[in-house]
Amino acid sequence: MKAVVFESFQTPPSIQTVPDPSPEPHGVVVVRVEASGLCRSDWHAWMGHDSDIVLPHVPGHELAGTIVAVGKEVTRWQPGARVTVPFVSGCGACHECRSGHQQVCHNQVQPGFTQWGSYAEYTSLQQADLNLVALPESMDFATAAGLGCRFATAFRAVVDQGRVSGGQWVCVYGCGGVGLSAIMIASALGAQVIAVDIDDAKLRLARELGATATLNATQCADVVEAVRGLSQGGAHVSLDALGSRLTCQNSILSLRTRGKHVQVGLMAGDQQSPPLPMHRVIAEELEILGSHGMQAHRYGAMLDMVRHGRLDPARLVGRRIGLAEAPAALMAMDSFQGVGATVITDFSS
Ligand SMILES: [Zn+2]
Ligand SMILES: [Zn+2]
Repeated sequence: MKAVVFESFQTPPSIQTVPDPSPEPHGVVVVRVEASGLCRSDWHAWMGHDSDIVLPHVPGHELAGTIVAVGKEVTRWQPGARVTVPFVSGCGACHECRSGHQQVCHNQVQPGFTQWGSYAEYTSLQQADLNLVALPESMDFATAAGLGCRFATAFRAVVDQGRVSGGQWVCVYGCGGVGLSAIMIASALGAQVIAVDIDDAKLRLARELGATATLNATQCADVVEAVRGLSQGGAHVSLDALGSRLTCQNSILSLRTRGKHVQVGLMAGDQQSPPLPMHRVIAEELEILGSHGMQAHRYGAMLDMVRHGRLDPARLVGRRIGLAEAPAALMAMDSFQGVGATVITDFSS
């Protein structure tokens, strides 16, 4: 099969012909990849920020596809099924998996990180009975790819961790794929959303997706004060959907008393350990929460909202590209280009 391979970090990946994956017996299926989204964590992987990666490597974890082969121990799936998978696949045996928290499994498998991923014609998925999610027939693959990472991550951050409810003020720092998803989901729940970014085109889309107010941080003397003013005293819930020292701090400082900060954007490389305003956290009883993907058994709640027309993840798909264009697009990810998510949908070239 053809795949995007990088042999070393921070050097251009290339399209190579590599062996097809085969279905081992223990719960593995092989999927023909129909769509694979480009995500900032793929860029982190290519930069060498992720210690899980063994070179040479095939990136890609936001995938949707069709099952082509099934291992002997798989009972729930057959070839031909249209599926996606949370980017964290649980092992099914550890304490977290047994308590329903496969998103923080102790022995997690992540396509595109702990194994080869979906910038390829085929990929293998582990513990299929536990981790795979069937796609609604009406959903196209490019839309479904985002359910593997950015859209599901945003759903868990807003619904399960942030516990956003109608009438609350929600602030979202960063209007990339996960930020825009969070804006759509929070506004569908009836929250008033303030979107913060440095790019007017992304902020325009944020408004179209439901943001009540938008702030361009480059044109704002004090973004925290602006958020606190708009929300009449601070956000009930604020998300750092970018993942930087500055946006993490600003998100926490944007909260009202007893507000919740949810860290969604990955803090990698030199951004790992930001100084935090812990005096405010204690004095105002703020909550600091992490959010890491979403377990397969929670997808039903999200897909119900899609089915009823309350969420429309198709609106988050930006540019569609061929596999041959993926190396350049991956390397350019840090320059914040493109509105909406770039998705590989053509694996023939
Ligand atoms: Zn992702
Ligand atoms: Zn586990």
